[in-house]
Amino acid sequence: MRRGVCRQILRRRQHLLQRRRPLQMQKRVLSSGKQNRPFNMRMDGVDRSAGKMRIVTDINKLRKPCKPVSRETNLKKLYAKIGDAARLMLKNNGCGLAANQIGDDKQFIIAVIEENDALKVRVFVNPTIVRHSEETNDDVEGCLSIPGKYGTVTRWNDITVKHLSPAGYITETYSGQNARIIQHEVDHLNGIVCMDKAADVFDAEDVPEENEEAA
Ligand SMILES: [Zn+2]
Repeated sequence: MRRGVCRQILRRRQHLLQRRRPLQMQKRVLSSGKQNRPFNMRMDGVDRSAGKMRIVTDINKLRKPCKPVSRETNLKKLYAKIGDAARLMLKNNGCGLAANQIGDDKQFIIAVIEENDALKVRVFVNPTIVRHSEETNDDVEGCLSIPGKYGTVTRWNDITVKHLSPAGYITETYSGQNARIIQHEVDHLNGIVCMDKAADVFDAEDVPEENEEAA
């Protein structure tokens, strides 16, 4: 079990985000919103709001499954909201966020995906995991909606996710940390939080410092 790995990867992701700024995806996310606010990459980010948007920490609200995005959904509005959600996620040093974490009831998630040593904030609308590996791995996860707590969670190594892109439904395969983040967020859409699946739950200060660099 490698405690603190998630945080370490998160830090690496933040480092990459800072080093590579402006990212292609950051630009896209920023331009989709109303304001061009700078990202706040503080490690101890405690401001859980972006404009009127706030990260939901009420577990009862997080238990409500989200509904699929339909033809009737106003996509322009939805993408503007997703842009704000991405800013909120990055501001809070997160690597993923699900709709119900910002009080929305539609099925969408965002995730910081690492591909070819670059980071991109990816949007997944109506995501469904259609295939997964038999192999699993255990790693530490935290959740922006459950601040200060970490837990060891078993996840599939590889997943294939079907989701609605602007060009229609597509399937993509992800592995490792990318697959872990997507599984965490898809669980959110189904009303499941990582602590439901955690073999153990511990406070942030109990994550051994030496293991934070273990990834
Ligand atoms: Zn979460």
